[in-house]
Amino acid sequence: MKKGSNNLRLFAEEKKAVILFLCLFNLLFYVWDVYYYYIRLYIGGNVEVSRDGLGISLYFLMLLPLFSAIYLQKKGKIFLIKYLYLTAFLVIDIIDNLIRYIGTNLHFATGNIVEVLCILFAPIFVNKKYFWFTAIGIIGKYILLGLILQDSNVVLPIFLYLILSAIAFTVLVRFYSYIHSLTDVYEELKKKEKLAVIGQMAAAIGHEIRNPLAALKGFTQFQQENYPNPNNYFPIMIEEIDRINTIVDDLMYLGKPKKIKFEKASIEEIIAYTLSITQQLAERQGVTVETIIAGPLPPLDCDEKQLKQVFINLIKNAIESMPNGGSIQIHVNVNVIQNQQKLSISIQDKGMGIADENILNLGEPFFTTKKDGTGLGLMVTKQIIKDHSGEIKIESLIKKGTKVNVILPIKNK
Ligand code: ADP
Ligand code: MG
Repeated sequence: MKKGSNNLRLFAEEKKAVILFLCLFNLLFYVWDVYYYYIRLYIGGNVEVSRDGLGISLYFLMLLPLFSAIYLQKKGKIFLIKYLYLTAFLVIDIIDNLIRYIGTNLHFATGNIVEVLCILFAPIFVNKKYFWFTAIGIIGKYILLGLILQDSNVVLPIFLYLILSAIAFTVLVRFYSYIHSLTDVYEELKKKEKLAVIGQMAAAIGHEIRNPLAALKGFTQFQQENYPNPNNYFPIMIEEIDRINTIVDDLMYLGKPKKIKFEKASIEEIIAYTLSITQQLAERQGVTVETIIAGPLPPLDCDEKQLKQVFINLIKNAIESMPNGGSIQIHVNVNVIQNQQKLSISIQDKGMGIADENILNLGEPFFTTKKDGTGLGLMVTKQIIKDHSGEIKIESLIKKGTKVNVILPIKNK
């Protein structure tokens, strides 16, 4: 649907450009030719050239591409019209010139305003292929005529058209770069807008869901205590309620711009807490976690609760990438980068890895490849790290595993 409407727009743009091109082309072609060969005779210039060659039939021949253009437009092949027109013009013009000059000792008289128009207006189609087609076609025509007629008069128009082509090419390149930055800005706006809408929705819905969910969990726990039976479903119910809670939390993170409370915290403790939370999931999937911490680490300026969320998300992703078991290595150390002490935490799994085409989508809201994933984890993670003036880098090899590296400044304002 979206693609279709985009195509329609491109179609409409091409149509406008084609109509403009055809009108100017035909207007200039006939007016120039009639003026050059007939009117000038009457206003008394000393004209040496007369309309030989194809003569009047040239005008009728040039109606052929016009009718073909109308036919192509009806067939929906509007993108071909410009090529057809130029090809027809070049072929007819070459024949016209050959008939006129071959076997005579007349000198080749050159230049046609229509060619200037074609080159200078080529950028309106914003199509590099067409630009090269025009420039090479027209300059090629002069080279061909020069060779056949053995006439050096072609040098001047070749030179002139080379300059015009260079100008048109510059314009075309500017068009392209302008369009690219416009689409980039548009994409960014769309993303921001999407986030804003999700945020407002999330905050409103999340708020409403929280309280009933807390009651539901309370009653479920109460029931579990009252009817202890190893075969009942209460643990699963509680687990699922917790899952809804995390999703609501993630969504609500989008809604309100969080004020971060920077406090000193121990990264060792944050990681230990994270591992205790994810332990059950890891055990269930046969995943072992090894933590390698380099030396005593300085306390980190951070929002502890938020950082816990970050590492829970990352470690969960690592575990989930290895459904048949495996190992995770967590390395923590301090580096000095640009005179600033930074903490580097890397989480490496030996899981399924991330396909190249998905790397760019990581962190997009709702991007997930999992059957019951939410696609919110990495988005929240990225946002929290950004709020901490940190960086996140993800390297991945398909079927080999993924390494996520988080770098955080030790001191934050
Ligand atoms: P979710 O986990 O709900 O799918 P995330 O935002 O946490 O959402 O992750 C988005 C996607 O990124 C995942 O669905 C997965 O395809 C990919 N991904 C993230 N981390 C890893 C990892 N360690 N290994 C493989 N794929 C990953
Ligand atoms: Mg996740």
